[in-house]
Amino acid sequence: MSIPSNADRGYMLVSRQYKPEYTVVDIEGVKIGGGNPPVIIAGPCSIESREHIIEIAYAVKEAGADILRGGADKPRSSPYSFQGIGEEGLVYLAEAGKLVGMPTDSEAVGEQKVDLVVKAGISIIHIGSRNQKSYELLKLAGHVAAENGRAVLLKRGEASTVDDFLGGAEYIAREGCMDIILCLRGIRGYENIENGLRRYTGDLDSIPVVKELSHLPVIYDPSHASGNREYVRAHARAAIAAGADGLMIETHLDPPNAKSDAAQQVTPATLVDIIKDARIIFETLRERQITYKN
Ligand code: PEP
Ligand code: MN
Repeated sequence: MSIPSNADRGYMLVSRQYKPEYTVVDIEGVKIGGGNPPVIIAGPCSIESREHIIEIAYAVKEAGADILRGGADKPRSSPYSFQGIGEEGLVYLAEAGKLVGMPTDSEAVGEQKVDLVVKAGISIIHIGSRNQKSYELLKLAGHVAAENGRAVLLKRGEASTVDDFLGGAEYIAREGCMDIILCLRGIRGYENIENGLRRYTGDLDSIPVVKELSHLPVIYDPSHASGNREYVRAHARAAIAAGADGLMIETHLDPPNAKSDAAQQVTPATLVDIIKDARIIFETLRERQITYKN
C-alpha cells in the first residue's frame, strides 16, 4: 500500500517531508522541541484575579515550570459557566510573568482577541481545542504572530484527526509563522459517559505519529485529556515516555475551589512531582538513545 504524501494529506510547510530537521521554537530563551529537555507550561485554567495569578506564578516558577499559562477569556461549553475576567486578565498575566521572569501563554478565543493578547505582551497566542478548525482565526493568529515575533500554540480539536490537526497548523504556517507548538489534549471517547472518571480519551499514541509527520514540537496536556487530577501525573509520565517535547499542566493553589476545571487542576506540590518524573524519564531515554521512533 502506498502512503499518501503529506501534500496529499492537506499540509506541506509543517510536514517532515518539507523540512526533515526538527523545528525548535524559542520562547524568550525557552527552547521547545528538537531533543531539548521537556518544557513545562503551568498555571491556572483561568486567571481569577491579579493577586491570584501573581501568587500562582511564584509557585509554579518555584516548582520548576518554564512558561506561565492562564486563561483570560474561557471558551466554556455552557454560557452559564465562568467566562473568565477578560482583558484585564491578560494584563495581570503579563505582569505576573514579568515579575517571576517567565514567558506567558493565553488563549485568543476569537479573532477580536488576537491583538489584545499580543498588545498585553503575552508571549504565546494559544488557540484552544474548540477553535482548531476556526480557519480565519488560525490565519489571523499566524499573521499577527509572524508580524510581532510571537509563537502560536495550537491544541488539537477534540474530534479532529491528526491530519485535521496538522491542516490547522498549516493555516498558521502559511501566514509566515513557523513558531508553532502543537498540543495534544485528548479526544472525544466514551470515558466520561462510562464511569465519569475521565473527561476525554488520552491521545498519547498520537505523539509519535504527529512527530513522524511534522517537524514541529509536540507537547501534551494531561489535565484536559484526563479531566481528573488523580490521573494527571501518570498521564504526564506516559506522554514524556512517548516522546512529548513538553507538558501543559493546569495548576492552582486551591484546586477544588478553582473557578473553572476544578476537578483537573493540581497543586504546586504535585507539579513538583510531575516535573521530577518528566526529567527522570527524559534523561533515561536520552542516555539510552531512545526516541519516539524506537
Ligand atoms: C485550556 O487550555 O484552557 C483549554 C480550554 O483547553 P482545551 O482548548 O484543550 O479544551
Ligand atoms: Mn482548563
